[in-house]
Amino acid sequence: MQPLHRARARQPQQSAQISRRALLRRTAVAVSTGPLAALPRLLQPAAAQPTTDRSRKLRLIDCHLHINHLGRSLVDTIRHMDATGTDKAFILPLETGEGGVTLKSAEVLEAYRRYPDRVIPFCQSDVRKPDVLETLKAYHRLGFRGIGEQKEHVPLNDRRIEAVIALCDELNWPITIHFQDGPNGYNQGIAEHLERYLKKYHRVRIIGHAQSWWAHISADVPPPEKTLYPTGPVKPGGLIDRLMADYPNLYGDLSAGSGYNALTRDPDFTAGFLQRHRKKLLFGSDCPCRDGRGANFRGVCFSTRLQAFLKKMISDPDHLRDIFVNNALRVLNGRAD
Ligand SMILES: [Zn+2]
Ligand SMILES: [Zn+2]
Repeated sequence: MQPLHRARARQPQQSAQISRRALLRRTAVAVSTGPLAALPRLLQPAAAQPTTDRSRKLRLIDCHLHINHLGRSLVDTIRHMDATGTDKAFILPLETGEGGVTLKSAEVLEAYRRYPDRVIPFCQSDVRKPDVLETLKAYHRLGFRGIGEQKEHVPLNDRRIEAVIALCDELNWPITIHFQDGPNGYNQGIAEHLERYLKKYHRVRIIGHAQSWWAHISADVPPPEKTLYPTGPVKPGGLIDRLMADYPNLYGDLSAGSGYNALTRDPDFTAGFLQRHRKKLLFGSDCPCRDGRGANFRGVCFSTRLQAFLKKMISDPDHLRDIFVNNALRVLNGRAD
């Protein structure tokens, strides 16, 4: 950890001296030489989303997947998608590594270059860097489709987090945010601060993810020190239930153990929740396994498990299709309903 902090501490001084023009020049140089040479040309036309007709052929979009998860290679990440019937995935970088996986935005671009039909490239950069907004604007020009996963040890009401949300609003981008309260958490303070952003920024699509997001499926939320994965019956009137109903710019990412735990803790409640938010919930896995059967992950595949659960809970094929495909396209294309 120590070397990481020292490296980060040096960064601001270096970066502060880099002007916007220099950044653009650097980006241009970076992509006009080496393996990323063809990217700007490749990315722009292919980044357009499928038309409604073409999208009908899609069966499943995973809104939350990382390369390098438990050391998984790009080829094994695509293999995971094949094994789970996943046509496309939002590939989310975690540049600083403090969120448990280290994946650079440039690697996501390279993955997109190799698999343009499978990868929907998201970008991310450390909000504590002074040039973060210029970096993100450069990523936007390269054709990235949104920001995520936003997961650094910075509270939600920090002005640097707000600046990134405001930039997404300006660029008409979605952002996937990992909400985890507690002293070692990320974007802490969902209950106190999220609604203010939803009121203030109407174009950005905020996609809620992780433990504290899902704990708020219930009106009864234990302190994070006690548990981040509450179980048992859900008390109606939870924060995310209300906010997703009230704000067209808020979506829910069903991925990971937190999403599955929230959906399975009270199936009677979940049936209504899935119905109320059928235009707001995105299928996602955050699965680190390599084969769709969890061979390297205690025998669990988050994607396979969640697909089976949702198919059991939802009998209407149009409803299932919203969660498996259409809501992800809505988020990417900026339609709020
Ligand atoms: Zn993740
Ligand atoms: Zn898996």
